Amino acid sequence: MFASVSFPLQQFRSFDYKIPDHLIQMVKPGVCVNVNLGNSHRIGFVTAIRESSVFKGEFKELTSIRDDKLSIPEELWQTFLWMSQYYLTPIGKVMKSAIPLSFSNEYKPKIEYYVQLTPNWKTMVDDIGIRALAQKKVLNQLVDGDEPVRTSNLSEFASNPLNVCRAMEKKGLVHLIKRPKVYDPFDLMAPGKKLEIKLSDEQQNVYEELIVAQSAGRFSPFLLHGVTGSGKTEVYLKLAQKVIADGKSVLVLVPEISLTPQVAKKFRNTFGDKVALWHSAMTRAEKGWTWQQLKEGKYTIIVGARSAVLTPLANLGLIIVDEEQESSYKQENSHPFYHARDVALIRAKQAQAMVLMASATPSLDSYYNGINGKYSVVNLTKRYGNATYPRVVLVDMKNVAFNDDAESKILSPELLNEIRLKIDRDEQIIILQNRRGYSHVHQCIDCGEIASCERCSVSLTYHKISNNMICHYCQNSYNLKDTCKLCNSENLKLTGTGTQKVEEELRKFFPDVNLIRMDQDTVRKRGAHHLILEKFGNGEAQILLGTQMIAKGLDFENVTLVGIINADSGLFLPDFRAGERIFQLIYQVSGRAGRHKKPGIAIVQTFNPNDSNILCASKMDIKKFYNQCLSDRQELMYPPFSRLSRILFSGLNKQHVNETAYIYQQKLESLPDLTILGPAPAPIERIKHYWRYHILIKQPLDNPMILQKYLHQQLHTNELKLNTKGVKIKFIPDPVTVL
Ligand code: ADP
Ligand code: ZN
Ligand code: ZN
Repeated sequence: MFASVSFPLQQFRSFDYKIPDHLIQMVKPGVCVNVNLGNSHRIGFVTAIRESSVFKGEFKELTSIRDDKLSIPEELWQTFLWMSQYYLTPIGKVMKSAIPLSFSNEYKPKIEYYVQLTPNWKTMVDDIGIRALAQKKVLNQLVDGDEPVRTSNLSEFASNPLNVCRAMEKKGLVHLIKRPKVYDPFDLMAPGKKLEIKLSDEQQNVYEELIVAQSAGRFSPFLLHGVTGSGKTEVYLKLAQKVIADGKSVLVLVPEISLTPQVAKKFRNTFGDKVALWHSAMTRAEKGWTWQQLKEGKYTIIVGARSAVLTPLANLGLIIVDEEQESSYKQENSHPFYHARDVALIRAKQAQAMVLMASATPSLDSYYNGINGKYSVVNLTKRYGNATYPRVVLVDMKNVAFNDDAESKILSPELLNEIRLKIDRDEQIIILQNRRGYSHVHQCIDCGEIASCERCSVSLTYHKISNNMICHYCQNSYNLKDTCKLCNSENLKLTGTGTQKVEEELRKFFPDVNLIRMDQDTVRKRGAHHLILEKFGNGEAQILLGTQMIAKGLDFENVTLVGIINADSGLFLPDFRAGERIFQLIYQVSGRAGRHKKPGIAIVQTFNPNDSNILCASKMDIKKFYNQCLSDRQELMYPPFSRLSRILFSGLNKQHVNETAYIYQQKLESLPDLTILGPAPAPIERIKHYWRYHILIKQPLDNPMILQKYLHQQLHTNELKLNTKGVKIKFIPDPVTVL
């Protein structure tokens, strides 16, 4: 018997090893083994067991099983295999993206001290003594909760809280507990506030429907369609409590932890240190350590972004996918090009678990799966409490931008009035402008030439603070030129509005109002997202201005006005999902207003007030939007009526790129049932000097793997090659963008 072993750490090839007789019973796919590779000792994972091997040389034997703790559980292993086939990625590469590089290292996190009252502390209270003021203060902090408190959180009450606690420990009042410190973006290791969750009637109905399915202990996909502010998080928490009470664990996926801190925070508050976080700011070692802890069953909940779906949480009972429509769930910059929501469904099937996908604006794909019965649908139709839906006002900016008497060309009179009103009332305001920088067009008035990046076919954005032009695709920067490079005219102008320009305009009108801007340029530092949101949350700023970063998941009580400066940005992108994205963005950001007692209003500025996506969003008419969008997609046979795949070719030599794309197209034409579009230059034809061509392939719904199987076979027999003549080829099933 032979075992194929892959080494996710160095490379992704597999090698065959002979299994010694005494290990035959124990070696199976997913098991972590010790082997010799070349002259060195390596750790690898078994990817397959075979009766024979095609390898002609001399076989080495597996040395031993490394450590059962490091092996991959069966359901996760099956998920990896599916990813490998569906995303056409070698299994080793799938593992490499799932398993932290330092998974097998001993990681010694820094230790922190926690303190907890002893069971019979009351009998010892008199020992504190009159002069030990700090001890009394600390004691007062501890009597309220029953979970350990981190000593460093007590620094308000004692200059050296650890020493004070040590003194109290000697008197038998408290225990000190050592715990590992893992970097935590919210510094939430403090104990949960054990809130009692009381659901509203509507929430309770949804919850009851969910637990019927959950109790059956089978794979069950659910779509929770709940309007903004309906309290989806509350339902997650209650459901998670039930799943944990049943002895199972819960995986919570969020688009990006720093942007949706509130969900992670509520889980931490409710479940305390049962919750692990998994996010991009963790170091390798921290990820490796968390991975091991998960394997050992130390956590029953993990909250994290995309790759958290690949963590080895044991005994999975429920996967929650918050904001399931978010495109950040799709990995498109490195193999495997997976979609975490789709992987969640596969994994839940393997684990016989429930999946709860939730959104106020479900993706068209999930909505359709709800209609055709693939997912069960539960609805939350009302905001929690007495909160009402915001009133939405659509403003035609043609009347503003071309009116020479207008106070401002960027802020409509309607928006200005509302801002003034809210400022007078000490309420808060969110302003969305979905483009960063100052202005994104630098154009010659005489010949029309627009300044664009020399390496990419995209226009440059002017950044006023650094006074240069930056390419948002390759980050290259250029000096602001004062003559046109085509006709030498000096008649140049900057147009198009970015967040920096909106900031300037708002400061001009409201010089005394505190404003914070949140876009990629202001959140580069670790923890910056969190600081900005915290400042806004505690009222240090009255206006929060930002890009789509601020559109979702935020829940601030005092926000009563949302302004969208330009609802049209992205509307004309040559991407079949452009309309869907605009709709979701407008609908979601409007949903930030008036979520609690005070009523809210959203002002949507547009140059295209008759665009159906914008109209539907501003009327909050979600049914109409879905129906329209579905019928458009059906007519063109785009998803969800077909499966779409994209093959992207890129390289420095345009002709080679083009030729390779044609070879693929001709091969694919021979397959039945596929519709092939292209090859054509990608809408962004060049990035970082690389020319880009693509082919789009529509596959019938009932045969999902047809293309993968064909390509796999062609690549195997070398009929088609990846990486020929310096042309890179990416096969992307279900792309979220086709730019
Ligand atoms: P969604 O995610 O659906 O937009 P949230 O979960 O953020 O909505 O809930 C909106 C607000 O209503 C939050 O401040 C939340 O704490 C509050 N809320 C919702 N349901 C409840 C409940 N059952 N008990 C207490 N507060 C609730
Ligand atoms: Zn010119
Ligand atoms: Zn560029």
